[in-house]
Amino acid sequence: MKQDPALELLAEALPKLQEAFAHLPASEPLSPTDAMRSILAELTERLADNYPYFHPLYAGQMLKPPHPIARAAYALAMWINPNNHALDGGRASSRLEVEAVREIAAMFGWTEYLGHLTSGGTLANLEALWIAGQLAPGKKVVASENAHYTHNRISAVLRLPFESIAADARGRMDLPALEVALQSGEIGTVVVTLGTTSAGTVDPLDRILELRQQYAFRIHVDAAYGGYFKLVSDLAKDASRAYASIHEADSIVVDPHKHGLQPYGCGCILFRDPSVGSFYKHDSPYTYFTSNELHLGEISLECSRAGAAATALWATQQLLPLTPGGVFASELSCGRKAALLVYEKLTKDTRFLTGAKPELDILIWAMKAYTLEESSGLAKAVFELAAEQDLHLALAQVPVSFFGPDAWPNVPLDSKVTCLRSVLMKPEHLDWVDAIWEKLSQAAAQAIGSTKQ
Ligand SMILES: *Cc1c(COP(=O)(O)O)cnc(C)c1O
Repeated sequence: MKQDPALELLAEALPKLQEAFAHLPASEPLSPTDAMRSILAELTERLADNYPYFHPLYAGQMLKPPHPIARAAYALAMWINPNNHALDGGRASSRLEVEAVREIAAMFGWTEYLGHLTSGGTLANLEALWIAGQLAPGKKVVASENAHYTHNRISAVLRLPFESIAADARGRMDLPALEVALQSGEIGTVVVTLGTTSAGTVDPLDRILELRQQYAFRIHVDAAYGGYFKLVSDLAKDASRAYASIHEADSIVVDPHKHGLQPYGCGCILFRDPSVGSFYKHDSPYTYFTSNELHLGEISLECSRAGAAATALWATQQLLPLTPGGVFASELSCGRKAALLVYEKLTKDTRFLTGAKPELDILIWAMKAYTLEESSGLAKAVFELAAEQDLHLALAQVPVSFFGPDAWPNVPLDSKVTCLRSVLMKPEHLDWVDAIWEKLSQAAAQAIGSTKQ
């Protein structure tokens, strides 16, 4: 089997890092023992009980393998295990975090901002809504019914009233419904999702910004999944317009551990107005003694944070800069092209039922059948039969309105049907479209065949 590239890179770099500390008096390094070896042997067996997330035939949920440079950099930093809470605990990696976050902010057009990494999108969104609540105490947070469920739950944690706004037929926040809600005067913050978690739909940020001329409210953009598509130039018109106005938001969340090729434990929150930093103020007697430079713990709700995560992100962005039209951007386009190709095949095939064209790289489709029960049953069968051929898809519950008013004319539009879902987020997916289609088509034939017997 081929040597893992991250291990190879690590084996080259780690001795050099160790060399930098070689002047210290020897402190016994731990040698591997038989007990450790046998635990790892057992662990290897246990870990094999996973879907092959790293392989292009895994095309189910949102799982993208970290880049080898990210894995190598993470492991290299782990030898030191720095803590980006304060410079005392993570001097070099805090600086790497500041640089990496600056590059993410620049991607959104911000040179002045306040921002830092978090353990993930949930914490990043929590910080955004926490600041929003401080600025507009008691006012409502609203988000589309297709927004991530975390906003409802975070609002409850923060004791902020929350309201869900209806989505239109394509799954985007419905503007007339939002305007009705705004007329109540109770809304402090609108959460705009650029790339919903279920279907990758893009809320009309540009149109929502226009509503600010009439109503005063804060805009938080949740781009945990879709943020990096800011770099992609061939999105459809509506989505392009939404991304083009992202710099006008008050806060933005993006998850490097979703589309940014990072190991889990890497989200990012950015605020347009750096003065919101004053809300984070605290007087810790124990942490901040060594310098006048900013300690990231002073602008973060989380205290200890992995310096290794910042290190991995920094290294990845050195290799694949966040430039429009660059290699990283074109690799994002590959996944989207793959999704559009499979969408086209699905749309032409009478066994399947599709909704609107995917806006990013997430596909949802149903199995054509007379009843919702039959369709749902077929979807589950295809899911299992495809997995038997090593093609891993996902299942999703979707309102039938997603497929237009005529798909199942005799049931209410909010009835749910179990559908197949595929997140084609690896650049290699583009080269695997034919293989994926062949396996899917075969699984569908088998599923349909077995119901006819
Ligand atoms: C994934 C996701 C979240 C939650 O982020 P985690 O990193 O899983 O904590 C929030 N919002 C959106 C749109 C997401 O896709």
